[in-house]
This record gives sequence, structure tokens and C-alpha cells, in this order.
Amino acid sequence: MKFISKANIFKLLDALKSDYDVYVPVKKGEQRFYKKYDEATGDITIGEVRAFEPLKAFFSLAREVVAKGFKPDVPGADRKPFAIVGVKACDLKGFKIQDHVFKNHDYKDPFYIKNREQNLIITSDCTCAIETCFCTALGIKPYPQEDFDINLSETTGGFVAEAGSEKGRALVKKHASLFQEARKGCEEDRADRREAVIKDVEKNIKENSVPSQDLYKGMIEKKFESDIWEDEAKTCVECGACNTICPTCHCFLLYDQKDKDKMERLRMWDSCMIKDFARVAGGANPRAKLQQRLRNRFEKKFDYFPKVAETYACTGCGRCISACPAKIDIRKVLKRLVGNA
Ligand code: SF4
Ligand code: SF4
Repeated sequence: MKFISKANIFKLLDALKSDYDVYVPVKKGEQRFYKKYDEATGDITIGEVRAFEPLKAFFSLAREVVAKGFKPDVPGADRKPFAIVGVKACDLKGFKIQDHVFKNHDYKDPFYIKNREQNLIITSDCTCAIETCFCTALGIKPYPQEDFDINLSETTGGFVAEAGSEKGRALVKKHASLFQEARKGCEEDRADRREAVIKDVEKNIKENSVPSQDLYKGMIEKKFESDIWEDEAKTCVECGACNTICPTCHCFLLYDQKDKDKMERLRMWDSCMIKDFARVAGGANPRAKLQQRLRNRFEKKFDYFPKVAETYACTGCGRCISACPAKIDIRKVLKRLVGNA
């Protein structure tokens, strides 16, 4: 286990700039937004909680050109890889779903795979919880345990650094002068800090009566015809924010447009909450009603993905709670789904 001081972290980020476009979370008001390290003028916040944007935004862009002139070469092949710093455990869990869809299933997405292979992920432990965090209800700890290159755990004067991949180990070796052996007691300090954050999250869970994932099995099937869906959908304005902000949602739309005298094909994030999402060419729509679309969103997350990818497609990040203008709260819906109502 290694230690890196706060001053040396910035030296490491400076060194990474030659191979990567480095992104760091910067605090603005009560939120943290990823900014390019070069342009980050505000308060760089490696600890605290997840950023406003989901991690998926780096791996499948909200809108990108995927073909030009219908040639087989992949556009953007010369794009510099990213190093994303301060990624939290709830976002990493999103990879379980994104990888299943774009990498490990029947379709292999060349853009996503390239991004997964090239990009560097420097994660960090959460050092607090915000009111909407409920990751532990989904069995996720508020600190990364896998899928990172290097993880940073805040401690006095710096961070405990743990390499989690070959890429991470090579990086620590390459910049060995910036790291030192972790002093005695660092591991215990890390364990205590982690335990304190777990307690914060569990306090949220208790206050909001969020059911644990152990109770989710079969809940959608049981409540498929329930009036919960119509009731919860009453205030929904179909903005799609719950999907776009979610680290596990991945649906997209392909469309062609003319760029000067050439054609190009674009891919854009889509939302299953929008009326025309499932409409077919003949005009038929299997989910014409809003409550059917809301039910479909929950069915995908809590019934379909556990069956095909052995994981719930929710990480308890709480983003959809903050983003929903209709104040539809996933924690409350889960409580109703496992309850007797
Ligand atoms: S459904 Fe909501 S709480 Fe769950 S991962 Fe998506 S945005 Fe986060
Ligand atoms: S964010 Fe809220 S209002 Fe917007 S589509 Fe989702 S549930 Fe409906």
C-alpha cells in the first residue's frame, strides 16, 4: 500500500497530461462537475461524493458521430484518451451494465471498447454522503473495490493509493518518486473513515425507509398490474432526465444527417420515458401510456438486468432523485414495490 501527498497528486496529474486529457471533479455550489484539469479554476474535490455527471458520459458520449460517408473506419480514432479522476464506487458499478450492453453481450461496440481500453480511471473513496445516497441498499460500499486503475483514499496529508490494474501498477512504478510506503496506521485510518461513511449512508437509508436489495426479487412481477405505476407517473413530464443522468441507462438513437455534401451517422442518448421511444415504423406503440413507460424503467432495472447480467441496474447514486422535476423518488417507489400496498 502506497501514500501520495496532496502536493504530489497534482504533480501526478501534471505528468498524466502528456498521455491523457485529464478530468477532475470541481466543486461549484453544492455540486461537483468534471472539468478538464487544465481549465479547472475552482475547488478540485477528489473526495466527497460522486460528480453531477454520470461516468458513462466519458464512455458513450451524449451525441457523437459514429460513421462518416458510411465508411467502415471509426471516427475519432485519433482522440486523446481520458484520465478521469475522483470517480466513485456507485459510478464504477454502472460499468457492470454498460459493459454487458456494449462489450460483453452479442454486440461489441467499437467506440465503447476503445474508450474502456484506453482510458484511465483514478477512483476515490467517498468521504461523506449526501441526502440522496443509498448505495449500500444495493450492496455497494461507498469506496471502490474493483474496476479501477488507482484508488485514492483520503488520509492525513494526502491519500492512501492502491493500484487495481496492470495499467495502475505501471503508473505507480513510472512515477515512483511521487509515492512513498504508507505509514503505519494508514490502513486502520482508512477502515475507520470508510466505516464512518457507511454509517452516513445507512442513516439516509433508515430515514427514507429504503428497502434492501434482498427484498427486490419478484417485486416487479408481483406489482405489475398495481396502481402504483399510474399513481407515480401522475406528475411525470417526460423530460427523460432520470435516464440521461443515470450511470446505468444506455439506450440510444441512431440518425443520419447531411454534413455539407457528405452524410454522417450520429448516435444520441435516448430515454425510455419518452412517448415515441418504443414506437415502431407502422405507428404502433407497445408503451403508449406513461405509466407503462415508468413501469418499464423499473422492470429493466430490477427485473431484466438481474436475470441477464446478475445485477440490479441501479447503483443507489441518487441522481435521478435530484434530477426529476416531478419529484418522483426511486426510494419511495422501491418502498411501495416491496410493501403490501
Ligand atoms: S436509477 Fe437513479 S439512483 Fe439508480 S443508478 Fe440510476 S440515477 Fe442512480
Ligand atoms: S425525470 Fe421525472 S419527470 Fe423526467 S421523465 Fe423521469 S420520472 Fe418523468
